[in-house]
Amino acid sequence: MLKEQLHEVQKKIEEACRRSGRDSREVTLIAVSKTKPTSMIEELLPEGIRDFGENKPQELRDKYQILPKDLRWHMIGHLQTNKIKYIIDKACMIHSVDSLHLAEAIDREAEKHNLVMPVLVEVNVAGEETKFGVSPGETLSFVEKLSHLSHIRVEGLMTIAPFVDNPEDNRIHFRNLRNLCVDIKAKNIDNVNMCTLSMGMTADFQVAIEEGATMVRVGTAIFGARDYQI
Ligand SMILES: *Cc1c(COP(=O)(O)O)cnc(C)c1O
Repeated sequence: MLKEQLHEVQKKIEEACRRSGRDSREVTLIAVSKTKPTSMIEELLPEGIRDFGENKPQELRDKYQILPKDLRWHMIGHLQTNKIKYIIDKACMIHSVDSLHLAEAIDREAEKHNLVMPVLVEVNVAGEETKFGVSPGETLSFVEKLSHLSHIRVEGLMTIAPFVDNPEDNRIHFRNLRNLCVDIKAKNIDNVNMCTLSMGMTADFQVAIEEGATMVRVGTAIFGARDYQI
């Protein structure tokens, strides 16, 4: 069943790429496996899926330890500085950098492990009070500050768009994030590589792709609804 759901998502990605004249190889599907058992992740491996998203550091670490080492683990959730140590040498990218305090802490942990951590800046595109992320207006100056940290590398921007009934309502936010990314890229800031746009979830990933997403984070459409009781 997971296979069929995955193929359905992949078909929709292809369709969105075709509609917008994009090559589907430009779009990485991150299967958001949070709360789901490793047995479900293993079901997707024969299908070629290697990118998985988690939002809890200990859960990412535990799954990393059990599963094959060629998987790419994306830390997509809000991260507390005291938990960076669980994932610093396991995550391939941290999508949720939204404060200098957090960025500096990641930089220090990365230095200890002698690595450079790819990060995305989380942007609160709609100014929602309940969401993490820097405001669009602060993003450029924030990226400039991060550019001085030598053990992280800014790779682009990420957003969690508002919860809406009609995904078209989020098109404007995705478009704005893409434009912000293009504007910052044009500044050619040292140590900053504005090539990744992580946007789009189960409800709106097709619209996000049409607006330029290079990574979509899809959980429910692949794995089914999450049960937070367990
Ligand atoms: C849970 C989560 C997703 C996936 O959400 P779905 O609606 O299940 O596709 C994507 N991004 C982030 C940051 C998440 O926490």
